[in-house]
Amino acid sequence: GFKCGIVGLPNVGKSTLFNALTKAGIDAENFPFCTIEPNSGVVPVPDPRQDKLAEIVKPEKVIPTTMEFVDIAGLVAGASKGEGLGNQFLANIRETDAIAHVVRCFDDSNVIHVEGKVDPAADIEVINTELALADLDGVEKALTRYTKLAKGQDKNAQAMKALCEKILPHLNEAQPLRSFELTDDELALLRPLSLLTLKPTMYIANVDEEGFEDNALLDTVRGIAESENAVVVAICNKLEAEIAELDDEEKTEFLADLGMEEPGLNRVIRAGYELLGLHTYFTAGVKEVRAWTIPIGATAPKAAGKIHTDFEKGFIRAEIVSYDDFVNHNGEQGAKEAGKWRLEGKEYIVKDGDVIHFRFNV
Ligand code: GDP
Repeated sequence: GFKCGIVGLPNVGKSTLFNALTKAGIDAENFPFCTIEPNSGVVPVPDPRQDKLAEIVKPEKVIPTTMEFVDIAGLVAGASKGEGLGNQFLANIRETDAIAHVVRCFDDSNVIHVEGKVDPAADIEVINTELALADLDGVEKALTRYTKLAKGQDKNAQAMKALCEKILPHLNEAQPLRSFELTDDELALLRPLSLLTLKPTMYIANVDEEGFEDNALLDTVRGIAESENAVVVAICNKLEAEIAELDDEEKTEFLADLGMEEPGLNRVIRAGYELLGLHTYFTAGVKEVRAWTIPIGATAPKAAGKIHTDFEKGFIRAEIVSYDDFVNHNGEQGAKEAGKWRLEGKEYIVKDGDVIHFRFNV
């Protein structure tokens, strides 16, 4: 599965967000470092299309696709030097596929700020500096290794050595590598180093209920994100935590009162999903309607492999109706009669929302 790590300074609202996401009920106390062990939770990816398919097919079961969120212990300045929980923190981030960086954009004198005042730019810098310094350490070690190997005829080692030398100054200035221009080939070379500042990153601006507009703190986060090609999701984690406690009926009413169509959490989950370069195809039978996650660009056999490796190995063809055609013609039969049912082969690149039957040999 795909994992998104929630990071940020202590007391910015990470656990509150995580709890709302998973309703796991972990204590969110007004106390720094309360989230010491990494906590992980698997959440369904909200997709209204799936509900629509289920209305048409009326299956026994509906199975959404999921994403994993990991609440990672609070980071402080000095973590890359092994201070506090630094090493554990960095090791936990290394295992994730993407980073959700929570930034405090709410004012509340009751909630202690570890650095003394609410200052999103400074907070972001503390975290980004630690991540960049951890990468600096990794790249310096790699440089030593590849310098030795590059003395022979090892072309890869020579390329790695040159690339490490090229990116070191940027990391030395404690800048994240996502703001350094790299070619696809260079990115591929760097992949084995699993550098933290190359992970797709989104900033979660944790705002007050009233803080979605005319909020200088939020604007600051947006400005920083833009300069790094990162995404921003503004959300009020405290409100989300309250919404998450409600049953379905209360939730609908409460959201309507607030003028919201859905919980803000849905935006976080979807942003995470997009950040990872993922999209969804569906299988829609009477037994189950199910959403499947695949990387954007995956071929039909790869998509089939998500269901079972045998489906990929024995792939013959895919029978496909697009989501819109499926809905507009009230299901597979209708889509067939309208000539909207297609056969696709091994080379077909699956599109977001495709409803698929795979044919395969065993
Ligand atoms: P963490 O250390 O980053 O995991 O932070 P927590 O989620 O434990 O939150 C720290 C404190 O801030 C708790 O008392 C939360 O209730 C409070 N808090 C979290 N989000 C918000 C918010 O959006 N507004 C306000 N006013 N308080 C919040």
